[in-house]
Amino acid sequence: MSFSTLGLAPGIQQAVQETGYTDPTPIQAAAIPPILAGRDLTGIAQTGTGKTAAFTLPILTRMVSEPAARGTRTLVLAPTRELAAQIIENVREYGKHLGIRSAAIFGGVGEKPQIDALRSGTPIIVACPGRLLDLMNRGCADFSNLKYLVLDEADRMLDMGFLPDIRRIVAKLPRERQTLLFSATLSREIETLSRDFLRDPETVEIGKRSNPAATVQQVFCEVQKARKPALLSRLLEDPAMSMVLVFTRTKHGADRIVRQLEREGIRTAALHANRSQNQRQRALADFKNGAVRVLVATDIAARGIDVDGISHVVNLDFPPQVEDYVHRIGRTGRAEAAGHAISFITGEDRDAVRALERATGKVMPRMLPEGFDPGDTREEGPPPAQRQQRGGRSGQASRPPRGGYDQRGSQGGRGGSGGGGGRSGQPSRAPSPRNEGYRSEGPRNEGPRSEGPRSEGPRTEMPRSEGFRSSEGGGSGAGEERPTLRGRRSRRF
Ligand code: AMP
Repeated sequence: MSFSTLGLAPGIQQAVQETGYTDPTPIQAAAIPPILAGRDLTGIAQTGTGKTAAFTLPILTRMVSEPAARGTRTLVLAPTRELAAQIIENVREYGKHLGIRSAAIFGGVGEKPQIDALRSGTPIIVACPGRLLDLMNRGCADFSNLKYLVLDEADRMLDMGFLPDIRRIVAKLPRERQTLLFSATLSREIETLSRDFLRDPETVEIGKRSNPAATVQQVFCEVQKARKPALLSRLLEDPAMSMVLVFTRTKHGADRIVRQLEREGIRTAALHANRSQNQRQRALADFKNGAVRVLVATDIAARGIDVDGISHVVNLDFPPQVEDYVHRIGRTGRAEAAGHAISFITGEDRDAVRALERATGKVMPRMLPEGFDPGDTREEGPPPAQRQQRGGRSGQASRPPRGGYDQRGSQGGRGGSGGGGGRSGQPSRAPSPRNEGYRSEGPRNEGPRSEGPRSEGPRTEMPRSEGFRSSEGGGSGAGEERPTLRGRRSRRF
Protein backbone atom coordinates (compact mmCIF):
# COMPACT_ATOMS: atom_id res chain seq x y z
CA MET A 1 0.00 0.00 0.00
CA SER A 2 1.22 3.49 -0.73
CA PHE A 3 0.25 6.83 0.78
CA SER A 4 -1.31 7.88 -2.52
CA THR A 5 -4.10 5.31 -2.15
CA LEU A 6 -5.18 6.50 1.27
CA GLY A 7 -7.09 9.59 0.19
CA LEU A 8 -4.98 12.18 1.99
CA ALA A 9 -5.11 15.81 0.87
CA PRO A 10 -2.50 16.56 -1.82
CA GLY A 11 -0.58 19.07 0.35
CA ILE A 12 -0.28 16.47 3.09
CA GLN A 13 0.79 13.77 0.70
CA GLN A 14 3.47 16.09 -0.60
CA ALA A 15 4.71 16.80 2.94
CA VAL A 16 4.80 13.08 3.71
CA GLN A 17 6.82 12.50 0.57
CA GLU A 18 9.23 15.25 1.52
CA THR A 19 9.65 13.67 4.93
CA GLY A 20 10.98 10.62 3.13
CA TYR A 21 8.29 8.11 4.07
CA THR A 22 7.55 5.76 1.23
CA ASP A 23 4.82 3.52 2.60
CA PRO A 24 2.39 3.84 5.48
CA THR A 25 3.27 1.85 8.60
CA PRO A 26 0.73 -0.83 9.61
CA ILE A 27 -1.00 1.44 12.14
CA GLN A 28 -1.23 4.17 9.50
CA ALA A 29 -2.64 1.80 6.88
CA ALA A 30 -5.21 0.51 9.36
CA ALA A 31 -6.19 3.74 11.09
CA ILE A 32 -6.19 6.38 8.36
CA PRO A 33 -9.17 5.08 6.32
CA PRO A 34 -11.64 4.86 9.24
CA ILE A 35 -10.52 8.22 10.60
CA LEU A 36 -11.00 9.79 7.16
CA ALA A 37 -14.46 8.22 7.09
CA GLY A 38 -15.30 10.03 10.32
CA ARG A 39 -15.21 7.03 12.66
CA ASP A 40 -14.12 7.14 16.28
CA LEU A 41 -11.12 4.92 16.78
CA THR A 42 -9.24 3.10 19.52
CA GLY A 43 -5.70 2.49 18.32
CA ILE A 44 -3.58 -0.01 20.18
CA ALA A 45 -0.06 0.43 18.97
CA GLN A 46 3.34 0.35 20.47
CA THR A 47 5.43 3.38 20.60
CA GLY A 48 7.54 3.97 17.52
CA THR A 49 5.02 2.51 15.13
CA GLY A 50 4.14 5.80 13.46
CA LYS A 51 0.94 6.41 15.39
CA THR A 52 1.38 10.20 15.48
CA ALA A 53 1.08 10.38 11.71
CA ALA A 54 -1.72 7.81 11.87
CA PHE A 55 -3.97 10.37 13.52
CA THR A 56 -2.39 13.63 12.33
CA LEU A 57 -2.56 12.95 8.59
CA PRO A 58 -6.29 12.14 8.38
CA ILE A 59 -7.28 14.89 10.82
CA LEU A 60 -5.36 17.44 8.76
CA THR A 61 -7.04 16.10 5.63
CA ARG A 62 -10.46 16.52 7.20
CA MET A 63 -9.62 20.00 8.41
CA VAL A 64 -8.51 21.07 4.95
CA SER A 65 -11.88 20.02 3.59
CA GLU A 66 -13.63 22.43 5.99
CA PRO A 67 -12.04 25.77 5.03
CA ALA A 68 -14.88 27.83 6.42
CA ALA A 69 -14.65 26.41 9.94
CA ARG A 70 -13.48 28.77 12.68
CA GLY A 71 -11.90 28.44 16.09
CA THR A 72 -10.09 25.53 17.69
CA ARG A 73 -11.14 22.37 15.92
CA THR A 74 -8.61 19.81 17.05
CA LEU A 75 -7.42 19.05 20.56
CA VAL A 76 -4.72 16.47 21.20
CA LEU A 77 -4.11 15.50 24.82
CA ALA A 78 -0.73 13.96 25.66
CA PRO A 79 0.85 12.94 28.95
CA THR A 80 4.16 14.81 28.86
CA ARG A 81 5.60 18.04 27.59
CA GLU A 82 8.13 16.18 25.52
CA LEU A 83 5.44 14.20 23.77
CA ALA A 84 3.28 17.29 23.25
CA ALA A 85 6.27 19.12 21.78
CA GLN A 86 6.96 16.24 19.44
CA ILE A 87 3.37 15.97 18.30
CA ILE A 88 3.37 19.68 17.51
CA GLU A 89 6.59 19.23 15.58
CA ASN A 90 4.98 16.44 13.54
CA VAL A 91 1.77 18.39 13.00
CA ARG A 92 3.79 21.29 11.62
CA GLU A 93 5.90 19.03 9.46
CA TYR A 94 2.95 17.19 7.93
CA GLY A 95 0.89 20.37 7.66
CA LYS A 96 3.57 22.65 6.32
CA HIS A 97 1.81 23.22 2.99
CA LEU A 98 -1.57 23.88 4.58
CA GLY A 99 -1.15 27.06 6.63
CA ILE A 100 -3.11 25.69 9.58
CA ARG A 101 -1.89 27.16 12.86
CA SER A 102 -1.11 25.02 15.88
CA ALA A 103 0.04 25.58 19.45
CA ALA A 104 1.27 23.51 22.38
CA ILE A 105 -0.05 24.02 25.90
CA PHE A 106 1.93 22.63 28.82
CA GLY A 107 3.44 23.65 32.14
CA GLY A 108 7.00 24.70 32.84
CA VAL A 109 7.01 27.55 30.36
CA GLY A 110 5.34 30.96 30.28
CA GLU A 111 1.56 30.83 29.94
CA LYS A 112 1.03 34.14 28.15
CA PRO A 113 1.65 32.86 24.60
CA GLN A 114 -0.47 29.81 25.40
CA ILE A 115 -3.36 31.96 26.61
CA ASP A 116 -3.06 34.04 23.45
CA ALA A 117 -3.09 30.89 21.33
CA LEU A 118 -6.22 29.61 23.04
CA ARG A 119 -7.99 32.96 22.96
CA SER A 120 -7.30 33.44 19.27
CA GLY A 121 -8.89 30.08 18.47
CA THR A 122 -5.74 28.38 17.14
CA PRO A 123 -7.12 25.52 15.02
CA ILE A 124 -4.91 22.76 16.46
CA ILE A 125 -4.05 22.59 20.15
CA VAL A 126 -1.76 19.90 21.57
CA ALA A 127 -1.87 19.97 25.34
CA CYS A 128 -0.95 18.27 28.58
CA PRO A 129 -4.07 17.95 30.72
CA GLY A 130 -2.90 19.86 33.82
CA ARG A 131 -2.03 23.20 32.25
CA LEU A 132 -4.92 23.01 29.81
CA LEU A 133 -7.49 22.45 32.53
CA ASP A 134 -6.01 25.31 34.51
CA LEU A 135 -6.39 27.67 31.56
CA MET A 136 -9.85 26.35 30.75
CA ASN A 137 -10.94 27.00 34.33
CA ARG A 138 -9.75 30.55 33.94
CA GLY A 139 -11.92 30.98 30.88
CA CYS A 140 -9.07 31.18 28.40
CA ALA A 141 -10.25 28.48 26.02
CA ASP A 142 -13.23 28.21 23.71
CA PHE A 143 -13.77 24.70 22.40
CA SER A 144 -17.32 25.21 21.17
CA ASN A 145 -16.20 24.54 17.57
CA LEU A 146 -14.11 21.52 18.41
CA LYS A 147 -14.55 18.57 16.06
CA TYR A 148 -11.56 16.30 16.69
CA LEU A 149 -10.26 15.03 20.01
CA VAL A 150 -7.21 12.77 20.32
CA LEU A 151 -6.14 11.11 23.55
CA ASP A 152 -2.58 10.03 22.87
CA GLU A 153 -0.74 7.55 25.09
CA ALA A 154 -3.93 7.26 27.07
CA ASP A 155 -2.52 4.42 29.16
CA ARG A 156 0.26 6.66 30.37
CA MET A 157 -2.12 9.51 31.09
CA LEU A 158 -4.06 7.16 33.33
CA ASP A 159 -0.86 5.93 34.99
CA MET A 160 0.10 9.50 35.70
CA GLY A 161 -3.21 10.20 37.40
CA PHE A 162 -4.64 12.45 34.71
CA LEU A 163 -7.99 10.69 34.55
CA PRO A 164 -9.92 13.27 36.64
CA ASP A 165 -8.44 16.14 34.62
CA ILE A 166 -9.25 14.38 31.36
CA ARG A 167 -12.83 13.79 32.44
CA ARG A 168 -13.22 17.46 33.37
CA ILE A 169 -11.77 18.59 30.06
CA VAL A 170 -13.86 16.22 27.95
CA ALA A 171 -17.01 17.22 29.85
CA LYS A 172 -16.54 20.74 28.48
CA LEU A 173 -16.15 19.68 24.85
CA PRO A 174 -18.95 19.42 22.30
CA ARG A 175 -20.54 15.97 22.27
CA GLU A 176 -20.68 16.00 18.50
CA ARG A 177 -17.06 15.28 17.72
CA GLN A 178 -14.75 12.59 16.41
CA THR A 179 -12.64 11.02 19.14
CA LEU A 180 -9.48 8.97 18.71
CA LEU A 181 -7.76 7.18 21.55
CA PHE A 182 -4.27 5.71 21.29
CA SER A 183 -2.66 3.47 23.82
CA ALA A 184 0.22 1.00 23.86
CA THR A 185 -1.88 -1.47 25.80
CA LEU A 186 -5.55 -2.30 26.01
CA SER A 187 -6.33 -2.56 29.69
CA ARG A 188 -9.73 -2.64 31.33
CA GLU A 189 -9.30 1.04 32.21
CA ILE A 190 -8.62 1.92 28.60
CA GLU A 191 -11.68 -0.01 27.52
CA THR A 192 -13.74 1.95 30.04
CA LEU A 193 -12.31 5.20 28.78
CA SER A 194 -13.14 4.21 25.20
CA ARG A 195 -16.67 3.33 26.19
CA ASP A 196 -17.15 6.63 28.00
CA PHE A 197 -15.63 8.97 25.44
CA LEU A 198 -15.92 7.26 22.07
CA ARG A 199 -18.92 6.45 19.96
CA ASP A 200 -19.03 3.07 18.26
CA PRO A 201 -15.28 3.09 17.79
CA GLU A 202 -13.36 1.05 15.31
CA THR A 203 -10.57 -0.75 17.16
CA VAL A 204 -7.26 -1.12 15.42
CA GLU A 205 -4.60 -3.16 17.08
CA ILE A 206 -1.11 -3.46 15.75
CA GLY A 207 1.21 -6.08 17.13
CA LYS A 208 0.68 -8.02 20.29
CA ARG A 209 -0.32 -6.19 23.37
CA SER A 210 2.46 -5.59 25.82
CA ASN A 211 5.07 -6.87 23.43
CA PRO A 212 8.16 -4.80 22.93
CA ALA A 213 9.02 -3.63 19.46
CA ALA A 214 10.06 -6.59 17.36
CA THR A 215 12.94 -4.65 15.87
CA VAL A 216 14.75 -4.35 19.20
CA GLN A 217 17.34 -6.92 20.21
CA GLN A 218 17.04 -7.33 23.93
CA VAL A 219 19.45 -8.70 26.46
CA PHE A 220 19.57 -8.81 30.24
CA CYS A 221 22.78 -8.29 32.13
CA GLU A 222 22.97 -9.72 35.62
CA VAL A 223 25.08 -7.46 37.76
CA GLN A 224 25.67 -6.52 41.32
CA LYS A 225 23.79 -3.37 42.17
CA ALA A 226 26.82 -1.37 43.26
CA ARG A 227 28.63 -2.20 40.06
CA LYS A 228 26.03 -0.91 37.65
CA PRO A 229 27.83 2.40 37.00
CA ALA A 230 31.10 0.59 36.30
CA LEU A 231 29.32 -1.81 33.98
CA LEU A 232 27.80 1.08 32.07
CA SER A 233 31.25 2.60 31.62
CA ARG A 234 32.53 -0.73 30.43
CA LEU A 235 29.76 -1.12 27.89
CA LEU A 236 30.38 2.39 26.62
CA GLU A 237 33.92 1.41 25.67
CA ASP A 238 32.21 -0.08 22.65
CA PRO A 239 32.05 2.62 19.97
CA ALA A 240 29.04 0.88 18.45
CA MET A 241 27.10 2.33 21.37
CA SER A 242 27.00 5.60 19.56
CA MET A 243 23.71 7.08 20.70
CA VAL A 244 22.67 5.73 24.05
CA LEU A 245 19.60 6.40 26.12
CA VAL A 246 20.05 5.32 29.74
CA PHE A 247 17.12 4.95 32.10
CA THR A 248 17.42 5.36 35.83
CA ARG A 249 14.75 5.03 38.46
CA THR A 250 15.46 8.33 40.18
CA LYS A 251 16.39 11.84 39.21
CA HIS A 252 19.36 11.79 41.56
CA GLY A 253 20.48 8.51 40.11
CA ALA A 254 20.36 10.11 36.68
CA ASP A 255 22.44 13.08 37.83
CA ARG A 256 25.01 10.78 39.44
CA ILE A 257 25.47 8.85 36.21
CA VAL A 258 25.78 12.05 34.21
CA ARG A 259 28.53 13.29 36.53
CA GLN A 260 30.33 9.97 36.36
CA LEU A 261 30.28 9.75 32.58
CA GLU A 262 31.26 13.38 32.15
CA ARG A 263 34.24 12.73 34.44
CA GLU A 264 35.17 9.91 32.12
CA GLY A 265 35.02 12.23 29.14
CA ILE A 266 31.75 10.92 27.72
CA ARG A 267 29.43 13.73 26.66
CA THR A 268 26.23 13.14 28.59
CA ALA A 269 23.02 15.02 29.38
CA ALA A 270 20.16 14.44 31.80
CA LEU A 271 16.43 14.53 31.16
CA HIS A 272 14.20 14.49 34.21
CA ALA A 273 11.54 16.46 35.98
CA ASN A 274 13.97 18.46 38.12
CA ARG A 275 15.30 20.09 35.01
CA SER A 276 13.67 23.19 33.64
CA GLN A 277 11.80 22.93 30.39
CA ASN A 278 14.62 24.78 28.65
CA GLN A 279 17.23 22.39 30.05
CA ARG A 280 15.14 19.44 28.95
CA GLN A 281 14.74 20.80 25.47
CA ARG A 282 18.45 21.54 25.22
CA ALA A 283 19.33 18.03 26.44
CA LEU A 284 17.07 16.51 23.81
CA ALA A 285 18.38 18.76 21.06
CA ASP A 286 22.02 17.99 21.99
CA PHE A 287 21.23 14.29 21.97
CA LYS A 288 19.48 14.52 18.62
CA ASN A 289 22.29 16.45 16.94
CA GLY A 290 25.04 14.28 18.39
CA ALA A 291 26.55 16.88 20.73
CA VAL A 292 26.04 14.39 23.56
CA ARG A 293 26.46 10.65 23.15
CA VAL A 294 24.48 9.57 26.19
CA LEU A 295 21.17 10.84 27.48
CA VAL A 296 20.23 9.74 30.99
CA ALA A 297 16.52 9.92 31.66
CA THR A 298 13.78 8.94 34.04
CA ASP A 299 10.60 7.32 32.74
CA ILE A 300 8.26 10.25 32.79
CA ALA A 301 10.66 12.66 31.16
CA ALA A 302 11.57 10.19 28.46
CA ARG A 303 8.02 9.38 27.55
CA GLY A 304 7.45 9.97 23.89
CA ILE A 305 11.04 10.82 23.06
CA ASP A 306 11.17 10.50 19.33
CA VAL A 307 14.79 10.57 18.33
CA ASP A 308 15.91 8.70 15.27
CA GLY A 309 19.04 6.61 15.41
CA ILE A 310 19.22 5.68 19.09
CA SER A 311 21.61 2.74 18.93
CA HIS A 312 21.06 1.44 22.46
CA VAL A 313 18.68 1.78 25.34
CA VAL A 314 20.23 0.80 28.66
CA ASN A 315 17.96 0.10 31.59
CA LEU A 316 20.41 0.88 34.35
CA ASP A 317 17.51 0.30 36.73
CA PHE A 318 15.03 -2.32 35.64
CA PRO A 319 11.53 -0.87 35.34
CA PRO A 320 8.98 -2.31 37.77
CA GLN A 321 6.14 -2.14 35.22
CA VAL A 322 5.97 -4.08 31.98
CA GLU A 323 4.53 -1.05 30.20
CA ASP A 324 7.51 1.05 31.17
CA TYR A 325 9.86 -1.56 29.79
CA VAL A 326 7.94 -1.57 26.53
CA HIS A 327 8.01 2.19 26.29
CA ARG A 328 11.65 2.48 27.22
CA ILE A 329 12.96 0.01 24.68
CA GLY A 330 10.62 1.45 22.06
CA ARG A 331 12.92 4.48 22.02
CA THR A 332 15.31 2.44 19.92
CA GLY A 333 14.36 0.33 16.93
CA ARG A 334 11.86 2.96 15.84
CA ALA A 335 10.04 2.68 12.56
CA GLU A 336 11.53 -0.71 11.68
CA ALA A 337 15.16 0.29 12.33
CA ALA A 338 17.22 -2.19 14.35
CA GLY A 339 17.93 -1.27 17.94
CA HIS A 340 19.45 -2.76 21.06
CA ALA A 341 18.18 -2.78 24.61
CA ILE A 342 20.42 -3.84 27.48
CA SER A 343 18.79 -4.20 30.88
CA PHE A 344 20.78 -4.50 34.08
CA ILE A 345 19.13 -6.86 36.51
CA THR A 346 19.84 -7.59 40.14
CA GLY A 347 18.20 -9.92 42.62
CA GLU A 348 15.80 -7.12 43.52
CA ASP A 349 14.34 -7.19 40.02
CA ARG A 350 13.35 -10.81 40.17
CA ASP A 351 9.59 -10.20 40.28
CA ALA A 352 9.65 -7.52 37.61
CA VAL A 353 11.76 -9.69 35.32
CA ARG A 354 9.41 -12.59 35.80
CA ALA A 355 6.39 -10.41 35.10
CA LEU A 356 7.96 -9.07 31.93
CA GLU A 357 8.93 -12.45 30.59
CA ARG A 358 5.47 -13.78 31.28
CA ALA A 359 3.77 -10.82 29.65
CA THR A 360 5.91 -10.88 26.55
CA GLY A 361 6.17 -14.63 26.28
CA LYS A 362 9.92 -14.39 25.89
CA VAL A 363 12.86 -15.33 27.99
CA MET A 364 15.51 -12.77 27.32
CA PRO A 365 19.11 -13.78 26.69
CA ARG A 366 21.44 -13.15 29.61
CA MET A 367 24.77 -11.54 29.15
CA LEU A 368 27.57 -11.82 31.69
CA PRO A 369 30.16 -9.14 31.16
CA GLU A 370 33.51 -10.46 32.24
CA GLY A 371 34.62 -9.09 35.56
CA PHE A 372 31.03 -8.29 36.50
CA ASP A 373 30.23 -11.72 37.67
CA PRO A 374 26.75 -11.87 39.11
CA GLY A 375 28.24 -14.20 41.69
CA ASP A 376 28.96 -10.85 43.21
CA THR A 377 25.26 -10.48 43.80
CA ARG A 378 25.45 -13.24 46.37
CA GLU A 379 25.28 -10.76 49.18
CA GLU A 380 21.88 -9.78 47.84
CA GLY A 381 20.34 -12.68 49.60
CA PRO A 382 20.69 -16.07 47.97
CA PRO A 383 20.04 -19.19 49.98
CA PRO A 384 22.92 -20.31 52.20
CA ALA A 385 23.48 -23.43 50.13
CA GLN A 386 24.31 -21.33 47.11
CA ARG A 387 26.54 -19.10 49.16
CA GLN A 388 28.60 -22.17 49.93
CA GLN A 389 28.83 -23.13 46.27
CA ARG A 390 29.92 -19.77 45.14
CA GLY A 391 32.84 -19.58 47.47
CA GLY A 392 35.17 -20.97 44.89
CA ARG A 393 34.40 -18.23 42.43
CA SER A 394 35.51 -15.29 44.39
CA GLY A 395 38.78 -15.03 42.54
CA GLN A 396 36.89 -14.81 39.31
CA ALA A 397 34.62 -12.15 40.63
CA SER A 398 37.50 -9.93 41.55
CA ARG A 399 39.03 -10.04 38.13
CA PRO A 400 39.51 -6.61 36.69
CA PRO A 401 36.72 -5.64 34.34
CA ARG A 402 38.64 -6.24 31.18
CA GLY A 403 38.08 -8.44 28.25
CA GLY A 404 34.90 -9.58 26.65
CA TYR A 405 31.49 -10.51 27.84
CA ASP A 406 29.96 -13.79 28.65
CA GLN A 407 26.57 -14.49 27.36
CA ARG A 408 24.45 -17.11 28.88
CA GLY A 409 22.05 -19.14 26.93
CA SER A 410 18.98 -17.26 26.18
CA GLN A 411 16.33 -19.69 27.14
CA GLY A 412 15.43 -19.97 30.72
CA GLY A 413 12.96 -22.69 30.03
CA ARG A 414 14.91 -25.06 32.13
CA GLY A 415 13.26 -28.37 32.37
CA GLY A 416 10.60 -27.08 30.03
CA SER A 417 8.11 -29.72 29.13
CA GLY A 418 6.95 -29.35 25.57
CA GLY A 419 10.08 -30.65 23.87
CA GLY A 420 12.16 -27.55 24.00
CA GLY A 421 15.01 -29.32 25.69
CA GLY A 422 16.40 -30.01 22.29
CA ARG A 423 17.51 -26.50 21.69
CA SER A 424 20.39 -26.41 19.39
CA GLY A 425 23.06 -26.04 21.96
CA GLN A 426 24.62 -23.42 19.77
CA PRO A 427 25.69 -20.31 21.49
CA SER A 428 23.06 -17.65 21.11
CA ARG A 429 24.11 -14.85 18.91
CA ALA A 430 25.30 -12.01 21.00
CA PRO A 431 22.75 -9.27 20.97
CA SER A 432 25.16 -6.43 21.07
CA PRO A 433 27.01 -4.97 18.13
CA ARG A 434 30.30 -6.37 19.34
CA ASN A 435 29.71 -10.03 18.87
CA GLU A 436 33.27 -11.06 19.36
CA GLY A 437 33.19 -9.49 22.76
CA TYR A 438 30.82 -12.08 24.14
CA ARG A 439 31.14 -15.61 25.20
CA SER A 440 28.10 -17.73 25.30
CA GLU A 441 27.53 -20.52 27.69
CA GLY A 442 24.79 -21.97 25.64
CA PRO A 443 21.22 -22.47 26.69
CA ARG A 444 20.56 -22.77 30.35
CA ASN A 445 18.26 -25.65 30.06
CA GLU A 446 20.80 -28.08 28.82
CA GLY A 447 23.03 -30.12 31.00
CA PRO A 448 23.02 -30.56 34.70
CA ARG A 449 23.41 -27.48 36.77
CA SER A 450 26.48 -28.81 38.45
CA GLU A 451 28.53 -28.41 35.31
CA GLY A 452 30.77 -25.52 34.58
CA PRO A 453 31.39 -22.32 36.36
CA ARG A 454 27.80 -21.13 36.08
CA SER A 455 26.37 -24.32 37.39
CA GLU A 456 24.45 -22.65 40.14
CA GLY A 457 22.30 -21.07 37.49
CA PRO A 458 20.97 -17.60 37.21
CA ARG A 459 20.41 -15.39 40.18
CA THR A 460 17.20 -14.26 38.61
CA GLU A 461 14.50 -16.82 38.66
CA MET A 462 12.98 -17.42 35.30
CA PRO A 463 9.36 -18.07 34.60
CA ARG A 464 8.41 -21.66 34.45
CA SER A 465 7.99 -22.98 30.99
CA GLU A 466 5.29 -25.57 31.27
CA GLY A 467 2.86 -25.58 28.47
CA PHE A 468 5.01 -24.29 25.67
CA ARG A 469 8.23 -25.12 24.05
CA SER A 470 11.23 -23.22 22.96
CA SER A 471 11.77 -22.30 19.39
CA GLU A 472 14.17 -24.47 17.50
CA GLY A 473 17.58 -23.66 16.26
CA GLY A 474 18.92 -21.39 18.93
CA GLY A 475 17.48 -18.39 17.20
CA SER A 476 16.33 -16.94 20.41
CA GLY A 477 19.10 -14.46 20.71
CA ALA A 478 17.84 -11.02 21.42
CA GLY A 479 14.42 -12.10 22.47
CA GLU A 480 12.90 -12.84 19.13
CA GLU A 481 9.31 -13.92 19.11
CA ARG A 482 9.07 -17.59 19.65
CA PRO A 483 6.71 -18.96 17.08
CA THR A 484 5.68 -21.99 19.03
CA LEU A 485 4.24 -20.41 22.13
CA ARG A 486 1.38 -22.29 23.60
CA GLY A 487 -0.60 -22.28 26.73
CA ARG A 488 -0.34 -19.58 29.32
CA ARG A 489 2.15 -17.42 27.58
CA SER A 490 0.15 -17.16 24.42
CA ARG A 491 -2.70 -15.48 26.19
CA ARG A 492 -3.10 -11.83 25.51
CA PHE A 493 -2.22 -9.26 28.05
P1 AMP B 1 5.60 7.58 16.36
O1 AMP B 1 5.17 6.19 16.68
O2 AMP B 1 4.52 8.44 15.86
O3 AMP B 1 6.35 8.20 17.52
O4 AMP B 1 6.65 7.50 15.13
C1 AMP B 1 7.88 6.84 15.23
C2 AMP B 1 8.85 7.25 14.13
O5 AMP B 1 8.44 6.74 12.88
C3 AMP B 1 9.00 8.74 13.96
O6 AMP B 1 10.38 9.02 13.88
C4 AMP B 1 8.34 9.03 12.64
O7 AMP B 1 8.96 10.13 12.01
C5 AMP B 1 8.56 7.75 11.88
N1 AMP B 1 7.52 7.45 10.87
C6 AMP B 1 6.21 7.69 10.96
N2 AMP B 1 5.56 7.23 9.86
C7 AMP B 1 6.49 6.69 9.06
C8 AMP B 1 6.45 6.04 7.78
N3 AMP B 1 5.30 5.85 7.12
N4 AMP B 1 7.61 5.59 7.26
C9 AMP B 1 8.78 5.76 7.94
N5 AMP B 1 8.89 6.36 9.14
C10 AMP B 1 7.76 6.81 9.71
